[in-house]
Amino acid sequence: MHRIIVIGGGAGGLELATRLGDKLGALRAAPAAQVILVDRNPTHIWKPLLHEVAAGSMDPFTHQLEYAAQARWHGFEFQQGSLIGIDRSARTVQIGAVLDQEDGTVLLPERTFSYDTLVVAVGSITHFFGVTGAAEHAIALDTVAQAERFRRRLIAACMRAQGGVSDEVVANLGAETGVAANVPPGRIEIAIIGGGATGVELSAELRATAHVLGSYGLHRLDPMNDIGITLIESGERLLPALPERVSTSTTELLRKLGVQVCTNERVTEVKPDALETASGKTFHADLTVWAAGIKAPAILAQLDGLAVNRLGQLNVRPTLQTETDDNVFALGDCAACAWPEQNRNVPPRAQAAHQQASFMLKALEARVAGRPLPTFQYRDFGSLVSLGHVSAVGNLMGGVIGGNMLVEGLFARFMYMSLYRLHIAALHGWPRMILDTVAHWLRRSTLPRVKLH
Ligand SMILES: Cc1cc2nc3c(=O)[nH]c(=O)nc-3n(C[C@H](O)[C@H](O)[C@H](O)COP(=O)(O)OP(=O)(O)OC[C@H]3O[C@@H](n4cnc5c(N)ncnc54)[C@H](O)[C@@H]3O)c2cc1C
Repeated sequence: MHRIIVIGGGAGGLELATRLGDKLGALRAAPAAQVILVDRNPTHIWKPLLHEVAAGSMDPFTHQLEYAAQARWHGFEFQQGSLIGIDRSARTVQIGAVLDQEDGTVLLPERTFSYDTLVVAVGSITHFFGVTGAAEHAIALDTVAQAERFRRRLIAACMRAQGGVSDEVVANLGAETGVAANVPPGRIEIAIIGGGATGVELSAELRATAHVLGSYGLHRLDPMNDIGITLIESGERLLPALPERVSTSTTELLRKLGVQVCTNERVTEVKPDALETASGKTFHADLTVWAAGIKAPAILAQLDGLAVNRLGQLNVRPTLQTETDDNVFALGDCAACAWPEQNRNVPPRAQAAHQQASFMLKALEARVAGRPLPTFQYRDFGSLVSLGHVSAVGNLMGGVIGGNMLVEGLFARFMYMSLYRLHIAALHGWPRMILDTVAHWLRRSTLPRVKLH
């Protein structure tokens, strides 16, 4: 039987494995393919939620999905482990061992699987552009662990800023000890580098978190004046990939939230408690987040000669087959896929990963049946950026609304929330998505608005 291996169970890869399993997999009366999903983690979380995890407004553990269970429900197989290599002539893929996080013992050994079709969907990682001190002193938001680490540091900094709190007290409340020890009493400065969607969304979310933490008694600071949030962007305006009016509107809304927006400031060095910029300015920062760019994971440049671009993404053709090998496909953030209408590549967005997963389902059905492959065309439906829990801003595009429309406020927030719900519907179907939404809504009434431990 034709064996399809999907590496990476993220926004694109998990949707693809789920829908491939449903259409061709083991639960069909006459299965047409064996589908295997590989991910380095045992659980999936939709990456666009990570800024909410970092701000504490979302508990990742209530939104994670177990790959093994999803595999059982949808007729595919799950293998945990990291992609470490492929052999293109033998058509095999090597998956690294899984170690126990506590004592390092081997839980699963290194494994090799043969494939007929390999789909690489490993996403992206933060690009620090070689800026001095950035990797050491700034937190990136690529994983749940990093987002959780930021949240713990934020709580620790808030507690320390009011003075007189010992490491023991901080530790008892579950926050990270030994960090932000230099926070002066009475004030916290948070710097976010990168004025794209992630930086903007995190800035707005953090302002709301500052208010909630204060209302729970975690600090006695003035949430608006004593918790400084500075968003630093090297370009002329925020959200450079979106139309100018979205950027203007976002800047105004952030300023109303008390976020200091600094454009035309290129960060040249990150220190433990400050940032230097090319214009010679110094910004004091107790906590720094780096949200200024992405690149593909380094392993892709070592995949038996598959061609990559300068960001390390796999170069793909319009069929999403890699430039080098007909049997290896790539999608999502890790693929460099041309967008001829805009003379650039398809942007690294969940929307693109979702569209490519839907396309790949049809393409692989055709491939298994021996029919010619279709070609992928990206459709830009616009972009929405969340500005806290009651507002969002963005532009909607496409045939239905006839052009490009600015949307703001609650309606935009509702549209933004529906993106995640569409992902859940793609994974579970509409009835379970509705149940899941109701369940989360009911649970909210018994949970704190910010995760505290
Ligand atoms: C904070 C934040 C906010 C965002 N907000 C938005 C938004 O509002 N709208 C939007 O469209 N996009 C947003 N994005 C971008 C969006 O998350 C990505 O474009 C999208 O997740 C890409 O999907 P993907 O399937 O390519 O990769 P991912 O969703 O990143 O999934 C990659 C998967 O591969 C796995 N993996 C990685 N390396 C390996 C390996 N070596 N071996 C095995 N498995 C591996 C990972 O564990 C992960 O499960 C945001 C991103 C961030 C960080």
